[in-house]
Amino acid sequence: MKQYLMLLSFIFLFVNACSSVPITGRSRLLLSSESEEVAAGAASYKTFLSEAKISKDAANGALVKKVGEKIAKTSGLNYDWEFTLVENDEANAFCLPGGKVAVYTGILKYTKTEAGLATVMSHEIAHAVARHGAERASQAQILQLGLSVGDTALSDNPNKDLILQGINVAGNVGVILPYSRKHESEADYMGLILMSKAGYNPNEAIAFWQRMSAGGSGKQDSITKFLSTHPTDEQRIKDLQKHLKEALTYYNKK
Ligand SMILES: [Zn+2]
Repeated sequence: MKQYLMLLSFIFLFVNACSSVPITGRSRLLLSSESEEVAAGAASYKTFLSEAKISKDAANGALVKKVGEKIAKTSGLNYDWEFTLVENDEANAFCLPGGKVAVYTGILKYTKTEAGLATVMSHEIAHAVARHGAERASQAQILQLGLSVGDTALSDNPNKDLILQGINVAGNVGVILPYSRKHESEADYMGLILMSKAGYNPNEAIAFWQRMSAGGSGKQDSITKFLSTHPTDEQRIKDLQKHLKEALTYYNKK
């Protein structure tokens, strides 16, 4: 009976939580509401900024705001956007739900130009537009629910712990990690469209990833490459080139 009820709630969850990603139209499953995510994003951003070192580079700080605002406008999302340049040597950037963006000074040596910066920021903003973080959290919750269903079903099996451990590993490698690679290429594609609509030449995205690749982000052994959340740089550049023609139609309309 307990299993039956759990199965029913499982089905109910799937039917009610399905929606599709803007721009790509891919169906996805989300267990949280956008307002919950926005509130969580705002709170994490506040904590992050209170611990981070805000950059004193006024010119680059202003550029981050300018580029961010142009891309935010093309996203169609009416968020309370914030864009901050943070002093950190790591080549990184992120956008939390609700449009809370941080760019690390360490990535500026790869972005080099305004369009290069637009590539990074539009990629990060695309993750937020697609609500990828919420999708990953939902997958983890579903895996957990699957494990608890298994836990009840296998209650008499002496190998229960071993079996459940196997399901957990298979779930992470087989479902959650490939999804994150899918999220990366989806954010690349959506970012390319967003930056083009904002008036940045999409060819610059390819130039940026080539600079990143030459800078050493491609140095991974085969195991980490397999489990990595990022597609190989070579593949990433190939995929971007495939979408260039479509992106250029938006850019040329500007
Ligand atoms: Zn990404």
